[in-house]
Amino acid sequence: MEVVQYKCPNCGGNLEYKAGNQDFGCEYCLSEFTETEIKEIFKKNENMELDENVEEIKKEQQEFEEHTNLYSCPNCGAEIISEDTTSATFCYYCHNPVILSGRLSGSYKPNKIIAFNVTKEEAEKLFKEWCKKKWFLPNDFKSNQQLEKMTGVYVPFWIADCDVKANVNALGKKNRTWVSGDYRYTETKEYSVVRRASIVMEGIPADGSSKFDDKLMEAIEPFDYNDIKNFSMSFLSGFFADKYDVEKAEVFPRIRNRAVDASDRLMRSTMNGYSSISVTNSDISILKTDWKYMLLPVWFMTFKYNEKIYSFAINGQTRKLAGIPPLSVPKLLGFCGGLLAALTLIFTVGGYFLR
Ligand SMILES: [Zn+2]
Ligand SMILES: [Zn+2]
Repeated sequence: MEVVQYKCPNCGGNLEYKAGNQDFGCEYCLSEFTETEIKEIFKKNENMELDENVEEIKKEQQEFEEHTNLYSCPNCGAEIISEDTTSATFCYYCHNPVILSGRLSGSYKPNKIIAFNVTKEEAEKLFKEWCKKKWFLPNDFKSNQQLEKMTGVYVPFWIADCDVKANVNALGKKNRTWVSGDYRYTETKEYSVVRRASIVMEGIPADGSSKFDDKLMEAIEPFDYNDIKNFSMSFLSGFFADKYDVEKAEVFPRIRNRAVDASDRLMRSTMNGYSSISVTNSDISILKTDWKYMLLPVWFMTFKYNEKIYSFAINGQTRKLAGIPPLSVPKLLGFCGGLLAALTLIFTVGGYFLR
C-alpha cells in the first residue's frame, strides 16, 4: 500500500499513521487527526494561495543576514542580535561580557514587529515607582547602577491563529416549582444540550526563547496587535533582539492548552437558560494553525541576589510590569522582630486590662 506523507497542519512536522487507532499523530507537537479530518484539511489548503513572493522573501532574508550581528555569552550561552551600528557589551541575562560570534542566518528574520512605545527613561520611572511600594527590597536592587542594566529587548514570539473544532455535550436541567392546595410541586425537565462549532482563535502568543521565563512573558500580556508592523531592520536600532531557540512544535502544547481552554469557556457561555448544566463530554481539537514569527518589545532586567537570578520585565508597548522581587532578609527580619515586639506589647497591655 502506498503511504502518503502528510505534514502536520499545526507545526509542519511529519505525521505518522497509527494503524491501530486509524488516525494520524504528530510526534513533534502531539496533535492527532482522524483520516477524514486530514483529508478535509488538505483539500481546503490546496485552494489556498501563497500570499508572499518567494524571491522577495529571499532578498529580505539576505538583507537581514548582512545587517545583523550575533553576540554570544560565554557564561550562560545567550545569543543576542543587534543591528550593525550598535555594539552589545554585556549579556542582559547574566551581566557577563559578550563576544561577537558572527552573522545570523536569514531564516531567523521575523515577519512582524511591534515597536517600542516606552522610552528607557519611562521604563526606569515605572520601575522606581514600583520599588517605592515594596519596602522589603534590598537597597542595591533599587539603585541607579542597577537601572543602567535595564535593556530594551525585542523578544521572539510565535503568534498562532488556530482553527478549532469543538463538540461539547451537556445535560441541562430546568426546574419549575408551584403550590397548589397543600402541596408544593417541583418539576424538573432534562435537556440534552449539544454544541458543535468551528472557532477561529486569533493571535495566541508564546515566547520562542528558552531564556525568558514563560510565566514572566505571560504576565506582561496582552500586547495590542493593532500596532503590528512589517519587520524592518531599522526597528532594531538602539535595542537588542533575542534569537528564537524554541521551535513552533515545542510551543504548540502551550498554544493548544490556551486555545482549548478559551474554546471550552466560549462553548459553555452559550449554554444559557438552564437551572443547572453539567458538561458530559467536551471534545475540542485544533485542525490547523497559522504562525507568525514576531518580535515584541520588552524592557528587561535581571538582578543577582544571594546567588539567585531574579528577572523583571515591562511591556514596552503597554507599560505593564511583572517580576518576582528579591526579599531583603535583614529588612524582613527587622519587620518580623518589630511584629514580635508589637505582639508582646499587645499581650502585655491586654494583660493589664484583664486585671
Ligand atoms: Zn505537529
Ligand atoms: Zn549570559
